Amino acid sequence: MTPPVTMTEPINNRTAQPERLTENLERPTLDDRSYRVIRLANHLEALLIHDPETDKVSGALDVNVGSFSDAEDMPGIAHAVEHLLFMGTEKYPKENAYNQYLTSHSGHSNAYTAATSTNYYFEVGASSKTSTSDATSASSPQDLTALKAESPLYGALDRFAQFFVAPLFLEETLDRELKAVDSENKKNLQNDTWRLHQLNKSLSNPEHPYNHFSTGSYKTLHDEPLARGVKIRDEFMKFYHTHYSANRMKLVVLGRESLDDLESWVEELFSAVPNKNLSRLRWDDVAPYTEKELGMQIFAKPVFEMRNLELDFLYQDEEELYESQPGRYFSHLIGHEGPGSILAYIKAKGWANGLSAGAQPLCPGSAIFVVKVKLTEEGLKHYKEVTKTIFQYIAMMRESPPQEWIVDEMKRMSEVDFKYKQKSPASRTTSSLSGIMQRPYPRELLLSGPSLIRKFNAEAINKAATYLRPDNFRLTLISQDFPGDWDQKEKWYGTEYKYEKIPEDFLAEINNVVASPASDRPAELHLPHKNEFIPNRLEVEKKEVEEPLKTPKLIRNDENVRTWFKKDDRFWVPKASVLITLRSPLVSLTPLNTVVSHLYRELVYDALVEYSYDAEISGLNYSVAAHAPGLDVSVSGYNDKMAVLLEKVLISMRDLEVSEDRFNIIKERLARSFRNWEYQQPYHQVGVFSRWLTTEKGWINEQLLAELHNVTAADVRAFFPQLLAQVHIELLAHGNIYKEDALKLTDMVESILKPKILPSSQWPIRRSLLLPPGCNFVYERNLRDPANVNHCIEYMLYIGDPLNRQRKAKLLLMAQMADEPAFDQLRTKEQLGYVVFSGPTISNMWAGYRILIQSEKSPEYLEGRIDAFLTQFGQMLHDMKDEDFEGHKRSIINKRLEKLKNLSQETNRFWNHVLSECYDFESADHDVEHLTPLTKQDVVEFFNQFISPTSPTRAKLAVHMLAQSSPAAEQDEQVVKLVSELLTANKVAVKDDDLQKHFEAVEKPAKQDDLVAALSSYLGELKLEADVVTKVVEQGKAALAAALTETESQKEVVEADGETHVKLGNGTTPVVIHDVHAWKAGLEVSKGARPVQDLSDFEEIEAKL
Ligand SMILES: [Zn+2]
Repeated sequence: MTPPVTMTEPINNRTAQPERLTENLERPTLDDRSYRVIRLANHLEALLIHDPETDKVSGALDVNVGSFSDAEDMPGIAHAVEHLLFMGTEKYPKENAYNQYLTSHSGHSNAYTAATSTNYYFEVGASSKTSTSDATSASSPQDLTALKAESPLYGALDRFAQFFVAPLFLEETLDRELKAVDSENKKNLQNDTWRLHQLNKSLSNPEHPYNHFSTGSYKTLHDEPLARGVKIRDEFMKFYHTHYSANRMKLVVLGRESLDDLESWVEELFSAVPNKNLSRLRWDDVAPYTEKELGMQIFAKPVFEMRNLELDFLYQDEEELYESQPGRYFSHLIGHEGPGSILAYIKAKGWANGLSAGAQPLCPGSAIFVVKVKLTEEGLKHYKEVTKTIFQYIAMMRESPPQEWIVDEMKRMSEVDFKYKQKSPASRTTSSLSGIMQRPYPRELLLSGPSLIRKFNAEAINKAATYLRPDNFRLTLISQDFPGDWDQKEKWYGTEYKYEKIPEDFLAEINNVVASPASDRPAELHLPHKNEFIPNRLEVEKKEVEEPLKTPKLIRNDENVRTWFKKDDRFWVPKASVLITLRSPLVSLTPLNTVVSHLYRELVYDALVEYSYDAEISGLNYSVAAHAPGLDVSVSGYNDKMAVLLEKVLISMRDLEVSEDRFNIIKERLARSFRNWEYQQPYHQVGVFSRWLTTEKGWINEQLLAELHNVTAADVRAFFPQLLAQVHIELLAHGNIYKEDALKLTDMVESILKPKILPSSQWPIRRSLLLPPGCNFVYERNLRDPANVNHCIEYMLYIGDPLNRQRKAKLLLMAQMADEPAFDQLRTKEQLGYVVFSGPTISNMWAGYRILIQSEKSPEYLEGRIDAFLTQFGQMLHDMKDEDFEGHKRSIINKRLEKLKNLSQETNRFWNHVLSECYDFESADHDVEHLTPLTKQDVVEFFNQFISPTSPTRAKLAVHMLAQSSPAAEQDEQVVKLVSELLTANKVAVKDDDLQKHFEAVEKPAKQDDLVAALSSYLGELKLEADVVTKVVEQGKAALAAALTETESQKEVVEADGETHVKLGNGTTPVVIHDVHAWKAGLEVSKGARPVQDLSDFEEIEAKL
């Protein structure tokens, strides 16, 4: 019944379409874009953004349908449609036409499916030229045609629009994309975020779509519907035709072109999207939790070692309350970490490490309010007390009327944040705005609506408070140890849990604390004090400069200190960053030192939580981090009160008191995080081993964990004063900050820490390991998680020193050209796995090319597929047309020249160059200089030397992460069992271990012949009589054939493999690294990291008198 949103009258009376809704959007002070909201005749609404300066342009479309609309018997269908939509259109039938177009214009695309929306977006370079000449607005029809032909935005929009006009859902792509969905789901299976979220969903009201499983799998989208006789492709198309309608679509286009040009393009390309006048999806009459689900408690067993307490309250949809946003009042107070807060109280008791709270809208019509507490070991024992504390605080809040001064503080911060909001990347802007357009904001408030709190509305706050009641929540306790008697398994992810009513006596205690007078509550619980960190001084002195400076200046450079400084000259926000490295060889000298440094850093954080929380919610953050060259300290945010925070952090570091209690809690937490690390996604782990193997020094998780057990609080107390006593200070001050301030802050660091000089002869030198030409190394690790099914490979080819600029340029260009083909072949066509990356890898003094795949297929098999792909790519490169070659060159140059979007991007760029110790601030320009003259022949030669599998001089290192629970291992197990049964039936005595070895040796995925050969060889060793052998082999053949058909998907690949199998042409066999120390000792090391130019070139030092 909801009509399409029209909060605003048209601003003109043109009879011609489209209808213009508004151009007058409330915006940040610094926003130099222009905006227009239009509605086409088919009721598709679009926000056009003209940004004459942008180097990236983008389009995004949000459709108001998502997994909440999945058919009961086909969970995941909305998600599958999102995947399939990209597979060809009537106008551009080639399945990868869209992605090919995007990559050749420095672009990319993505999409996601949420509960009530599906969001599609892309980004491309603004111009098809390398120059940054601005597009001008066209006036004559000829100009218009020329403008379109030259605009990557038009080309991309044209291809993009067709997905919503006439998609083909190409039959031959269907199976592959469903496998991609399946692989996406398998990637999530061992991930607690997904597992616990689904558990909450699965235990919600079955009548509410929140109950659904949203990702889908091959089983739910393919096997099961097919078994029911459903024509699945028809079903996907039916879903699309039922739910996709122009009036449910919100489009955002961001380009350099004028609003009029953008408007005419959108009208031209999107008017053909059919309009079915569908209503906006809402769920008003059904609640995610009913009486049946409320008052319950869930005990769940996680994969990670974690201990969380979660209270979920049934809450209200606040979409229409955007002016006052009452939910934020409660998330501010319940989630507060300062003095008087729930967290401060339960942390002091030794029960908790963290707490968060907030309203979570589920869909129009439904929301929940969630309070999450990270418990300590003691906290787990006292989870009931923690729960009661939360209710005591809620009772205290409800006793006093809503506090206007608190809302004023929140209003003030929301205004400051919005006023000085900086640009985010083009596609993030369009994607997020297209989602926001689905909500009922007046169109003038599309930019500001979600950010700004505009009103104090006591009545709305009082009403919201009524949801936070003991009879309106349920409790979830997540722990690997407690209670231990989980008796159920969640259907989709297999999470073990127990589900029961909250015991009467516990509920009575909760009701009791809520009803008790204030005098019965702990005096420690009270509302927060006035926040002293809200910034007042927000002036920015804007000086016009011809050209922003590309490097910071060195304003102090002596034995003690290097201070880098740049006053912001392009973003004009009242923000700054001060980043400090306290250089010391001690921090990472041994795994023990590294662990103690980690503990120290965690203890500093722990000591500062209550103090720094006000700063944090006022947009001022700090961090302390231990890394190879030393200890890093930084503060960033609104510069007004930055010095105050930095001073406090430094003093806390210097004067830290390490109590045994806190030490034990922090140590236990760190040990847990080390152990949990090994239960992460394999592709998150693999990089750590790759870096460890390519750098001279460095430690991995298991080495740190081994030391952690023996560390005591006394070790930390002894270590940090020694560390701080002798360091070299290197500091970068960047942003809305003056030179004098930067020097004063430097003095402050020196005067608080008072370190002795650390002579440069003692500074750590960072070196990488050199891989010799022709090498072929493999390093294998077994993954810890027994339930994880995915292997992972990171396949790296060593190129050399990243400061060899010419070679680096060739690497960048080659990687750019191989990017889309690698994804298309390895992910889309072969469906090896959901996670497929390729690209240059440059760290420290090591440059290489890598392909990473996470897959159920074995790493050996993946190696073969990568080699086959590289061979195929070699041919593509050879056959590449000149215009395509130039297109790729332009694309990578544009990427390197990509404009900085905000101040922190620039800060990070400077700081990374400082931390690398190469000070290569202008590396992007150097890359472009060396990219420009490259010819195709240059790249072919580079490829033949460093990349081609037939090159005798390429240097290869692959890290294999092996899953325990892999289909290959399962197959071995299955085959061994089968053969063992067979032999026993034939009265042959079997040793399963021996048998196992024979079959493990067979290359995976196994072919029937190889298995039969392994069986024969085993029988041969047993010296049986010939007729027994023949008989067993014959029976074995039939049995193995049956076993192999059960692993159907693998068999297909075996067949496909038969056609494209490529032998490694360079004659190397992999050398497995067993002893990393010995292996490293056998390699030469690179030159150390060092400045690319004399640092005195950057000096701007005033003579001291
Ligand atoms: Zn997906």
